Amino acid sequence: MGSALRGAVVAGMFGLAWLTFGGLLRGAVAQTENPNLTDDLVTASHILFDQGVLDGFGHVSVRNPANPERFFMSRARAPGLVEASDIMEFDLDGNQTGGPRGQPVFLELYIHAAVYRARPDVNAVVHSHSPAVIPFSVGPTPLRPVSQTGSFLCAGVPNFDILDSFPEAANLLVTSGEKGKQLAKVLGEAPVALMRGHGDTVVGDDLKQAVYRAVFTELAAKLTAQSLALAGNRPVKYISGKACERELTTGSASGGKEGNQRNWDIWARQAEEHHGN
Ligand SMILES: [Zn+2]
Repeated sequence: MGSALRGAVVAGMFGLAWLTFGGLLRGAVAQTENPNLTDDLVTASHILFDQGVLDGFGHVSVRNPANPERFFMSRARAPGLVEASDIMEFDLDGNQTGGPRGQPVFLELYIHAAVYRARPDVNAVVHSHSPAVIPFSVGPTPLRPVSQTGSFLCAGVPNFDILDSFPEAANLLVTSGEKGKQLAKVLGEAPVALMRGHGDTVVGDDLKQAVYRAVFTELAAKLTAQSLALAGNRPVKYISGKACERELTTGSASGGKEGNQRNWDIWARQAEEHHGN
């Protein structure tokens, strides 16, 4: 079954289920109106798994275009296995407002809720344990781009240490609205925040930009680590000057919308070929 058709069928099934449970009707209407967004969210999840940004953990979400106070993300499930029927809707306090009931939710959904509340410009969020970024979150060396594809990191990459605000936290996970709020504060206006000993949170104007940035942040961390290792004690030439300015003012140095779409297309095909999704 084609993905668009599957989305429509699933959305129809949701509609019937939610008509039975009248209190959830609003969520059903929002998804039925935009089955392509549901499909794109599923594709984003598969791409991020296939590209090694997400593993069995991590998640991606998208703001509801029909209601900016709501966002969509999967039920708690390995990202590579996510299907349209797993998609839930949440409000900006992290309460479920739509989608399948009685299923586990991601413990760290507060990352997404808090970022959407703090950043009206953000319409998609990726949280991952992206492996190559973690060494930059625990040491003194900042993550700066050495390659054009990572030039969005010229904006600076803040590092959130949960123990700065919550010294008694039992672990490093963002499991409450207050923790999410502190993360969003450290993120500020940046596209990416590292999370000490944990991973990162990446945001975008839309789903495709957030996916692009998440994949190229992982690559940037690898390239920067390799450059530093090769350089020894000598300085590394990071992306700087006009290349940074151009990216930060127009977003064009890393390809802009067209670049995001071009990468999305090939990554989606690869994910489908590798995993049959
Ligand atoms: Zn996490």
